[in-house]
Amino acid sequence: MSYDLIIKYGSVVFPYHGTVRCDLGVRAGKIAAIADEIASTAGSQVIDARGKYVFPGAVDSHFHVGIYRPHSEDAESESRSALVGGVSTLISYFRTGQHYLNKTGLYKDIFPEVQQLSSGHFYTDYGYHIAVMTAAQLDEVDWLVETAGVGSFKFYMFYKSLTLSADSTKGSAYTMAENYDLGHLYELMTRVSQIAAKHKDKARISLSLHCENPELIRVFIERAKQQGLTGLKAYSEGRPPLTERLSVHEAAILADATGCPINLLHLSSRDALQAGIDVRRQYPAHDIKLETTLHHLALDHEELDRNGIGIRGKVNPPIRTREHSNFLWEGIKNGSVDTVVSDHACCGEEHKHENDLWGSLPGFGGASILYPVLLSEGCHKRGVSLQRVAELVSANPARAFGLYPRKGCIAIGADADFAIVDMEKEQPITTEACFSAQDHTPFEGFMTKGWPTHTIVRGNVMLENGKVNDRRLGEFIRRPVALHENAA
Ligand SMILES: [Zn+2]
Repeated sequence: MSYDLIIKYGSVVFPYHGTVRCDLGVRAGKIAAIADEIASTAGSQVIDARGKYVFPGAVDSHFHVGIYRPHSEDAESESRSALVGGVSTLISYFRTGQHYLNKTGLYKDIFPEVQQLSSGHFYTDYGYHIAVMTAAQLDEVDWLVETAGVGSFKFYMFYKSLTLSADSTKGSAYTMAENYDLGHLYELMTRVSQIAAKHKDKARISLSLHCENPELIRVFIERAKQQGLTGLKAYSEGRPPLTERLSVHEAAILADATGCPINLLHLSSRDALQAGIDVRRQYPAHDIKLETTLHHLALDHEELDRNGIGIRGKVNPPIRTREHSNFLWEGIKNGSVDTVVSDHACCGEEHKHENDLWGSLPGFGGASILYPVLLSEGCHKRGVSLQRVAELVSANPARAFGLYPRKGCIAIGADADFAIVDMEKEQPITTEACFSAQDHTPFEGFMTKGWPTHTIVRGNVMLENGKVNDRRLGEFIRRPVALHENAA
């Protein structure tokens, strides 16, 4: 037997199973052998992983390629950055309206353009979630699933205010949609529910929700301004956890009424995660997945304001305090959180104006520290198991978004995607170490222990000891129907 690549002497972290000392053989981009020992002579390339852990490559299922920068350029720099964090596949959100391609229309016309701007520009494998913004796009849900290779959709609960605002031209200028409200959400959930039922034997098809309530945000921002609050504290109080809680319940009621599988995104607070746990209990027959992010787990707005990071940490929903992040860590430990993501959106300092908190753009990058932050803050500091981390960032997102068992799985026949990790490697997070086009990071100076030394995509070593392989060989992964028909 001969292999293109052999990974020897490592401890392999199998999701849902545990950590086992074994060798891995890779042929034609797939895992071809898992054994106590594979002879080095059988491989064209051999990686010595002695003393290291071999994780499944991370599937970062919340990413925003091209949101604030030209799409192809952003795909190149940010998927490259993702390799640093052990990410081998990313799933990016795309929508019509302001930012991204700054246009509206039918996805039949626009999605091929997105594909064309993507092709040949990714270092990792990739897929897209699509936000259905207009009434006309509702009729494209089946086409997106069955032809375009998209298996997941998105709705932004807080964009409703944009359509409802006094200046309605401003609202529709942002979403470029007529009725972006709960009525539209109900229509969308009905469509997604139908197509999900049709293909339920093949893979999970679902709708993701950004849960914040716009009417409450309007009131609380006014209060924060009147009280003269500043910095990230003002931002968090202007969009308080109560708005997430209300929004989670609204979403769950409509999911119950329509039977639509849902994902509650970036739960930032105790209130938000507790609401997610509550609705799951309330509607046990329904499929509800709970997501949180690296920054909501690891950062605290009081510390960021003290350390002068301030506005660079502006993100939706806002970064909270330790009281909230401790509760999210409990959810990591007790199993209530399903996935952890970066919510990566490359947003340079030019868009973060120190004296204009409310007008600055939200978001920042984080894919390059996905494994490091979880290993450091989770495994080293809080006793979370390596296996659980592999589930949170790889196997669970792959299952939730129709990629499993091709991705997120260490088994014969799965894609040979790995992050080989040195659990003892200690270094601070710096802008340079992120390899991103973003010229700052709210994690600047944050100490982390546990870094990928290698990131491997379909058997290709893309990151090796801080050096990136300059071949952009990332492929679009057609989910969910095509992927599973090919496998059968
Ligand atoms: Zn996002």
